[in-house]
Amino acid sequence: AARPTPVRLRSALGALPEYTPGRPAAVRDGLTAYKISSNENPFPPLPSVLDVVRDAAGSVNRYPDMAVTALTEALAARLGVPAARISTGPGSVGVLDQLIRATCDDGDEVVFAWRSFEAYPILTTLAGAVPVQVPLAPGARHDLDAMAAAVTERTRLVLVCTPNNPTGTTVGAAELDAFLDRVPSDVVVVLDEAYLEFVDAPDAPDALAVHEARPNVVVLRTFSKAYGLAGLRVGYAVAHEPVAAALRTSALPFGVNSLAQAAAIASLDAADELDVRVKELVAERERVVAALREQGWDVPDQQANFVWFGLGDDTAAFAAACEAEGLTVRPYGTDGVRATIAETEANDRLVEVAGRFL
Ligand code: PMP
Repeated sequence: AARPTPVRLRSALGALPEYTPGRPAAVRDGLTAYKISSNENPFPPLPSVLDVVRDAAGSVNRYPDMAVTALTEALAARLGVPAARISTGPGSVGVLDQLIRATCDDGDEVVFAWRSFEAYPILTTLAGAVPVQVPLAPGARHDLDAMAAAVTERTRLVLVCTPNNPTGTTVGAAELDAFLDRVPSDVVVVLDEAYLEFVDAPDAPDALAVHEARPNVVVLRTFSKAYGLAGLRVGYAVAHEPVAAALRTSALPFGVNSLAQAAAIASLDAADELDVRVKELVAERERVVAALREQGWDVPDQQANFVWFGLGDDTAAFAAACEAEGLTVRPYGTDGVRATIAETEANDRLVEVAGRFL
């Protein structure tokens, strides 16, 4: 007979999937294994960033600066926005968690595309809000018309992931503008730009300009991807008052650790060096996408540091074929597989496996 659970948990938890980013890479059978399931930056930290982290490590007996003053000011100067509009957090996922809790009462709705970042339904549900998932349009792109139509009286938040994780597509500046005209101005719209630095689409929106013009628009960014600090957990939002103030109020005390603060500032100082790496990854992405299309794969325009394979019922088989060759990719149900652009050897192997699979 089933035994009663020993403790009571939030009822919504039972319906949630566990977040499973894949195993770390390992070496087996003489084959270097690559974990290309979490969109990590394959480059090791810059020496200048490591030095700063080592220095900061000497003071970890102290709490970090709770107001994240120096990093916030460095970001404000870099982005050309007032420091009061910037709120940092432990990864952009931490900032997003705060934002959902700061905007939604129980039963309020959060509208986003699906598929998109799998943290969206989890964070929404845990906040007591209701996820409203709007299917992607053909080409694995956001269906902004359908998303505008999905906004109701209960909608507090709309999440636009551009480039979209896991499909790699961006929204266009003009369609975003038309969409924002249709969303009531008291509904917060998040532009999640975790992969912004990898974008080279000519029609991509200038999110900060959009934010400047529209008080309900929040720009969400991270140091985890292009800046290679995934392990340190630091991200930020650019938001007008009162949203920025609400984010600060709802932040966990000391959420951004001192190593992360120091490393993020050092990374802003090293932006030019980091951009060289980003350009290399973008060139690799284009190389891989071109090779896959040559093989006959129908790959949508890819704007992030990963490649999307729309596979339907073949999703699990393709992930297994990759795994057999030492590539841990990210399968999504019966939708497809996402694979990070990583070391050249991993990218080459991915193309090879894909070619054999077709
Ligand atoms: N947004 C998107 C679209 C992402 O893909 C990710 C990471 N997978 C995040 C936010 C969160 O990144 P982090 O918390 O490391 O800043």
